[in-house]
Amino acid sequence: MLIRDEFKYLLYTERLKDIIDKKLINPVCVEIGLTTRCDNKCIFCAFDWLMKEQHIDIDPTVLQSAIDDMYGMGVQGVSICGNGEPLLYRNFVDIVRRIQRYNIDIGLVTNGGLLHKYLDVPEYAKMLAEFTYIRISLDAGDSLTYKDIHGVDRFDLVIENIRRLVLIPDRKVTVGVHYTLCENNKDSLYRAVVLCKNMGVDYFHVGPVVKSTKFSENLPKPYLMYPIESTSLTKNYSNDRFKVFVSDNRFEDISGLDKTTAGYDLCRAQNYFTIIGADGGVYPCCHTIGNPKYCFGNINEQYFKDIWFSEKRKNIMYNIDFKDCSLSCNKKWANRMLHSLFNPLLHPSFLG
Ligand code: SF4
Repeated sequence: MLIRDEFKYLLYTERLKDIIDKKLINPVCVEIGLTTRCDNKCIFCAFDWLMKEQHIDIDPTVLQSAIDDMYGMGVQGVSICGNGEPLLYRNFVDIVRRIQRYNIDIGLVTNGGLLHKYLDVPEYAKMLAEFTYIRISLDAGDSLTYKDIHGVDRFDLVIENIRRLVLIPDRKVTVGVHYTLCENNKDSLYRAVVLCKNMGVDYFHVGPVVKSTKFSENLPKPYLMYPIESTSLTKNYSNDRFKVFVSDNRFEDISGLDKTTAGYDLCRAQNYFTIIGADGGVYPCCHTIGNPKYCFGNINEQYFKDIWFSEKRKNIMYNIDFKDCSLSCNKKWANRMLHSLFNPLLHPSFLG
């Protein structure tokens, strides 16, 4: 069952007491950016500034030691995600094997253009089949739109890769497709939904273009999907085997009606997760990546566990200046919910 992200925090209520006491608790989930290299040039890339600065691959030996720490700390999920394209990382298989050996759940976010290189090797295909999820950023329903959005001409290849991924025998992995919606690709959305549904993809997720903290100025014009349209999309195209999700709250964020920190005073969500960038830096979230002010430490210099439980991290965590945060922080709703759990509610006997 898929639930809205902020509600997942309620699954870890046993940690609330320690957070109230300002104790540092073990993370539930860690995101890892393996490389800043990418073979696409997406018009809404959140890391284009990082990739332009330098090409970095995370040191595999150092990362393996960090994964050993994560296992010891009881981390439950590791997401291999952006900074660049993870499948370009030379030691991808070794890192995945290390995570899988510890039975830590593993997820992958990819542009999908290199999946065939892994699917062609039966033992790697088997490895992918054991992931918890693989989410492909498709963002188009036809070749022309794909080229406009991704800056490369390989829509058919990515579609074929998704088709092959879905058909891996006995797969445990949930295969999802993500669609970042903007004016440039809005006309292609429904074609992409139907294509994915017919291919046997498990879910289709629609989110808006979001402005990151260090984002390039050439952001495409966002398309505002209002609840009436999202309800019709999810209702008309979802069935028992295929679910369509729309991040209504994030569309609300970019509509300008909402303010970044309205409803919370601290970023408490970062007690539960963190992100390690390709530079080895450990940061609160993807929006703060590369910002030295918010770097807890670097796994090239310290053990991950020592960084996580350091006074430095505690100081940073309790002194986030929300002016440095993204206007559409994806932890906003989790932080609102956590804020309400940490602060006395007015007249709790009366439910609104
Ligand atoms: S953008 Fe700010 S509020 Fe949001 S997760 Fe990052 S540090 Fe927390």
